[in-house]
Amino acid sequence: HEDKLMRLEKLALLGQLSAGLAHELRNPMQSVRGFVQFLFEEQNHHYKDIVLTELDRMNQLVNDFLMATQPTAPKKEKSVLEEIVEETVELIRGEAHLYNVEVHFVPETKTTIVFVDQSQIKQVLINLLKNAMEAVGEALGKIIVSTKRINQETVVIEVIDNGVGISMTIIERIGEPFFSTKDEGTGLGLSISKRIIQEHQGMIEFKNTQAGTKVSVTLPVVS
Ligand code: ADP
Ligand code: MG
Repeated sequence: HEDKLMRLEKLALLGQLSAGLAHELRNPMQSVRGFVQFLFEEQNHHYKDIVLTELDRMNQLVNDFLMATQPTAPKKEKSVLEEIVEETVELIRGEAHLYNVEVHFVPETKTTIVFVDQSQIKQVLINLLKNAMEAVGEALGKIIVSTKRINQETVVIEVIDNGVGISMTIIERIGEPFFSTKDEGTGLGLSISKRIIQEHQGMIEFKNTQAGTKVSVTLPVVS
């Protein structure tokens, strides 16, 4: 399929470009940071904190970008899926509170064994949960995360939000690097997530519901 091939080529090219860019950016940023710290040392200047914070933020951005575009081979191990999901939901709870969003985790059982790279699956879930939080906006939002066996071989993780919803045109473009409808979005979250789930022989699907968006991630189960 031509579209898919083009997308893959774009991703590969993006990976090469970003590695170079990140490398080129990191060094001058580190040296600017050092000089700024030195310059402000004596004067205890009010702008010092701002400059350093912003520099650190740039550094973090470059690191995230590099992470996103330089796929590392998954380190898969037998894991309990519900524990991974639970830990991720707990991790995001503080931020959810700031967004005025309730997050509920409803596992069907707590014994689903999957063969996964735990930190990669957490990264996917964080991306989905952040999108869900951003979708609900200022209104009192609700996110429901659940895990269910759909048959002997497959488990599905669902993330349901009551946010703005997602149109077909957007669903079709998900996975395209840099595709975002947000002012401050990078459009990288779902492109990474899609790749990670594919590398786990799973699937990720988006559906518009009457009340918001439902994302389903299916993964193979270890019997
Ligand atoms: P970003 O969040 O930086 O925009 P993503 O790759 O995470 O990039 O998402 C791409 C786009 O998919 C978003 O800009 C948004 O339009 C759409 N989207 C993703 N998740 C949701 C959701 N839960 N509700 C509504 N739209 C969503
Ligand atoms: Mg996102």
